[in-house]
Amino acid sequence: MKALKKYKFWFLTGSQDLYGDECLKHVAAHSAEIVEYLNNSGTLPFEIVLKPTLITNEVIRKTFNEANLDKDCAGVITWMHTFSPAKSWIIGLKELKKPLLHLHTQFNEEIPYDKIDMDFMNENQSAHGDREYAHILTRMEIPRTTVVGHWKNEDVQNKIASWMTTAIGIVESSNIRVLRVADNMRNVAVTEGDKVEAQIKFGWEIDTYSVNDIFEYVNGIDEADVNALTDEMYEKYDIINTGLHSDEEFRRHVSEQARIELGFEKFLEEKNYHAIVTHFDDLGNLMQLPGLAIQRLMEKGYGFGAEGDWKVAAMVRLMKVMTAGKKDAKGTSMLEDYTYNLVSGKEGILQSHMLEICPSIADGKIGIRVEPLSMGNREDPARLVFTAKEGKGIAASLIDLGTRFRLIISKVNCRKTEKEMPNLPVATSFWTPEPDFYTGTESWLIAGGAHHTAFSYDLTAEQLGAWGEAMGIEVVYIDENTDIRSLKQNLMLGKAIYG
Ligand code: MN
Repeated sequence: MKALKKYKFWFLTGSQDLYGDECLKHVAAHSAEIVEYLNNSGTLPFEIVLKPTLITNEVIRKTFNEANLDKDCAGVITWMHTFSPAKSWIIGLKELKKPLLHLHTQFNEEIPYDKIDMDFMNENQSAHGDREYAHILTRMEIPRTTVVGHWKNEDVQNKIASWMTTAIGIVESSNIRVLRVADNMRNVAVTEGDKVEAQIKFGWEIDTYSVNDIFEYVNGIDEADVNALTDEMYEKYDIINTGLHSDEEFRRHVSEQARIELGFEKFLEEKNYHAIVTHFDDLGNLMQLPGLAIQRLMEKGYGFGAEGDWKVAAMVRLMKVMTAGKKDAKGTSMLEDYTYNLVSGKEGILQSHMLEICPSIADGKIGIRVEPLSMGNREDPARLVFTAKEGKGIAASLIDLGTRFRLIISKVNCRKTEKEMPNLPVATSFWTPEPDFYTGTESWLIAGGAHHTAFSYDLTAEQLGAWGEAMGIEVVYIDENTDIRSLKQNLMLGKAIYG
């Protein structure tokens, strides 16, 4: 998996020449100081690059187009230090293709009551200039994030940092390529969708190969490489042989997954795909349903969707891209709503899948088990087993409503199950949705959310929701503020707006 680009963000200050050269010199110096401070704050995940003050239509247009062309630029931060007549921005804004943050700040934190005069006020009038600017953004319906407050304020910096994550999702979305080596599971509705529309809306390329095309790669892997990776797995994970297989047979099953991992990875790398779907009923010549193999590929950053679920595969990849390099990351995975605990006061949803949960969300020890599948017709697949971390996360479901997409984002609280589940040979998580189990679950069902989700501890609902808004689709939040009546109104509003 190729490392992501080292993205940068441009800092663009608006002004005009009405107040003289001295004023413009101050404006440029202030912007330089702000950029330097923000870059040294340690709060921002990416560097900000200062650009010369923008004072004319021509320069604004030229600068925005340079930002469009610069492959390293993931977004622009704009701020009006003085007044800057907004008609000057119209053409540039019309042509801007990069994510936009409107930083509504001011150089000085406090009004200098004793010294303030008209010169000072003309020079420091963000309250005035940014209103003119925001007006034209609103009139032109330019999607943007607005952050209000002094630039030294940590909350302000955190909001800029948060927007940067969304911006990475927006610029990287169109680089996502999903490999389908199986069609959607027969008769299943929610994993289906319009792949052409997904490319138009999100930029995703979704291609199909025969599963035996990828099998050829698996089959061609050198035995020595398979052995080396199997040894590595035996060192890294606990081997949990429950007695179903001899030790030798157990190892052979694990090595089959090592072979699949190496073959799949080679295929994905060579053909430049970043996400993959499989289907237990369409395995060609593969000996086992890819379990351990897919789990480890997800941990390396690949997206995955089971039973042909390419929407989930792309969403998992997107969320992995958005959280790549995050400090103290807790993990991102595909999950599936499987079984409930409905005991009063202990309600929750057991999250799992047949095999394919990403070990990035694991808490503590990870083991390997080899057990039969209840479905499919292949040999017992090896898989990683663990329980997930505790803490807050978001579960996302992108659904196709026939004429449009809807992104549902549910805030969930993950915790340990009351007791261990020794007979369950798969990785699990257990969560309760906000605002409570009953309202959260009812909301999910009303909104049409799927059973497969893309889950992350490391993204906020706002960060992912802002991505959805930038893609021009309906976003439905299920969180601590959700009640059924307003959710229904929001869905009606969504229907009115998005059709
Ligand atoms: Mn499934």
